[in-house]
Amino acid sequence: MSPTSPRPDDTTFEQVLAEYQAFNRRLSRVAAPLRIANASLCPDNIRDPGFYTHRLEDYPETIRPMAEIMLGLESKGLFIREVRAGSSAEAQRLEPGDQILSVNENPISSDPIMDTYNRAVLRNGFDSVLSKVKVRTTEGREYTARIRPQTACDIPAKVVFSERMNGHTDGREVLITSALMSSVPDDTNLALVIAHEMGHVIAGHVHQPQSQALELEADRMALVLMARSGYDVTDAVAYWERAAHPHHGGTADDSSHPSTVTRYENFQSELTRIQKIQKQSRKNAEPFRNLSFN
Ligand SMILES: [Zn+2]
Repeated sequence: MSPTSPRPDDTTFEQVLAEYQAFNRRLSRVAAPLRIANASLCPDNIRDPGFYTHRLEDYPETIRPMAEIMLGLESKGLFIREVRAGSSAEAQRLEPGDQILSVNENPISSDPIMDTYNRAVLRNGFDSVLSKVKVRTTEGREYTARIRPQTACDIPAKVVFSERMNGHTDGREVLITSALMSSVPDDTNLALVIAHEMGHVIAGHVHQPQSQALELEADRMALVLMARSGYDVTDAVAYWERAAHPHHGGTADDSSHPSTVTRYENFQSELTRIQKIQKQSRKNAEPFRNLSFN
């Protein structure tokens, strides 16, 4: 080992935090088209400003000293954690580390006790077509960005650190384990995992006993959600065939989960239906605009 190479025991903590940030960035980037293009199919919507926030208090006390240094959360207040690629927030040059001072001239308090108030300011502030977000950059410069929030499905996608390969939903959020994300290098395949869980949320499957029929329905819904978002569903099925991922920890002898062959046939028939609709509306600017669940 050369003297300059970092020793693993020195960097593990930073690596974990950096990895967590990277997982979150990828997950929100891949989930964003699914959430925005399918807002009309989702039971609840939010206004998505194109950036996500965090505070030092969001992190466990044991890692706060590290979060202060690594994430630039030196002072109390609300900071941008991530800016979504392709959003107007990105075009307006908002950046991770910027502190949010006000939204539509309503001040954001840096007192942790005001968290509920701050959340209300954010929520109301993004109802308008154009929102004014005043920030202080990491260099101390203050400026006001004019962003255009978008209506999106209120189905957050979150990374869970786990060795288990699993996509899951509690009926409200989509939870993807770090092990699954690492095993799915292709974004189209990751989008399929997210879209499948979104299907469970939209159809309210969490309130019904698990069954093969619900799994197959979530698979079909996933292809519809993906096609409407601009993902290539033909590729998605092809990737899936090559790297069928475990799901809900389901095993071969678990009768509530369909076999890989059954899932594949189900994917194929839905793919055929979607391709037919695409062919029929080839001349439309948005051929999948009216595509709905089968
Ligand atoms: Zn499922």
